[in-house]
Amino acid sequence: MAEETLFSKIIRREIPADILYQDNLVTAFRDIKPKAPIHILIVTNLPIHTINDVTAEHEAALGRLFTVAAKIACQEGFSEEGYRLIVNCNRHAGQEVFHLHMHLLGGKPLGQFFC
Ligand code: AMP
Repeated sequence: MAEETLFSKIIRREIPADILYQDNLVTAFRDIKPKAPIHILIVTNLPIHTINDVTAEHEAALGRLFTVAAKIACQEGFSEEGYRLIVNCNRHAGQEVFHLHMHLLGGKPLGQFFC
């Protein structure tokens, strides 16, 4: 089990966040420094360090990240316009918080994605 980060405290509601959704596997809340008009983080409730640490035991939670992303995009009304899902892993991707999370970005044309 990875060491806890501030995301675990958000999941347990020990520190404030704008939580949009929570179930037994994942929690979704608005990013504190949005990089697009809509920027939501969907995090596994288990403190998995990076995508390198996932195992078959995590497949239900990993799948839930996608179904919750689609549900939120539909509920918030931007599913038809479209959106981008990003998971950063380690230094070269710029991962800052070492608790597995998916970025859900939308609300404007995001342009082509280049490295
Ligand atoms: P990453 O670079 O993929 O690790 O992304 C971490 C994200 O967490 C960044 O977009 C931060 O703005 C966001 N973040 C950091 N602290 C908080 C917080 N307390 N509440 C919401 N989002 C946060």
